[in-house]
Amino acid sequence: MAKFVGAHTSASGGVQNAVENAVAIGAKAFALFTKNQKRWDAKPFDAATLDLWFKALEASGIQPKHILPHDSYLINLGHPEEEKLQKSRIAFIDELERCEILGLDRLNFHPGSHLVKLNAKEKKDEVRVQEVEEECLDVIAESINIALDKTNNVKAVIENTAGQGTNLGYKFEHLAYIIDKIEDKSRVGVCIDTCHMFTAGYDIRTRETYDKTWGDFDRIVGREYLMGMHLNDSKPPLGSRVDRHHSLGKGEIGLDAFRFIMNDTRMDDIPMVLETIDETIWKEEIELLYSFVN
Ligand SMILES: [Zn+2]
Ligand SMILES: [Zn+2]
Repeated sequence: MAKFVGAHTSASGGVQNAVENAVAIGAKAFALFTKNQKRWDAKPFDAATLDLWFKALEASGIQPKHILPHDSYLINLGHPEEEKLQKSRIAFIDELERCEILGLDRLNFHPGSHLVKLNAKEKKDEVRVQEVEEECLDVIAESINIALDKTNNVKAVIENTAGQGTNLGYKFEHLAYIIDKIEDKSRVGVCIDTCHMFTAGYDIRTRETYDKTWGDFDRIVGREYLMGMHLNDSKPPLGSRVDRHHSLGKGEIGLDAFRFIMNDTRMDDIPMVLETIDETIWKEEIELLYSFVN
């Protein structure tokens, strides 16, 4: 079996519960927040929690490389204000350290937002938009370089975004631009979220569009950097730049794209995680995905 599918399970009550919750739905991979994702600070793990975590992990048979922790939503590694940027960088380093303590090898995060208020005229000016975006992408790359320098082993896995608001990472070129500036390329990767990809304008609904989009990915980013997937259908339509997930087959993407993914060797041996909206059917969604494998 080359595919490892699961969901972003709840770590409420302790990180060990994320493992238990994954096992309960038949997951062979999972994602989790290693701390409350809506808070800046977190207590370090105590010995008892770590003991429970490692025991649960061993019993589950799930390998660390199939676990894709997600960082806090508060962090913006491209923040234009110095004080908030520093706060984000410190929190990001803490997130990487927490993953290392849990024996994990990758941390998934959204690149960042430039927060610049462009007027209607500027928004139509491609040169101006690119200038603002690249300035922020430079800050993001610097943030990642600083964090990798201060930590060990854990890879920084950049997620593509829908491009809502001023979020960057909605173009493959953004991901490639950041990777190009990372000093230690052995510690950077990307996670592709199918909903974000689709609403950012990359179609994957037919064999033809799927191959075109992933051919672009291989050419612009490079398949060797793919270290995780988020499997979500989408409520909003193609290119809407709005981030709203849906259950598989119930949204605008439809099931064929997930059939292609389950038979695509690019996605072998990486965590593939559902972030779909109805967690009561995650077990069925995982079964459905495995049923697609030829
Ligand atoms: Zn995602
Ligand atoms: Zn999303």
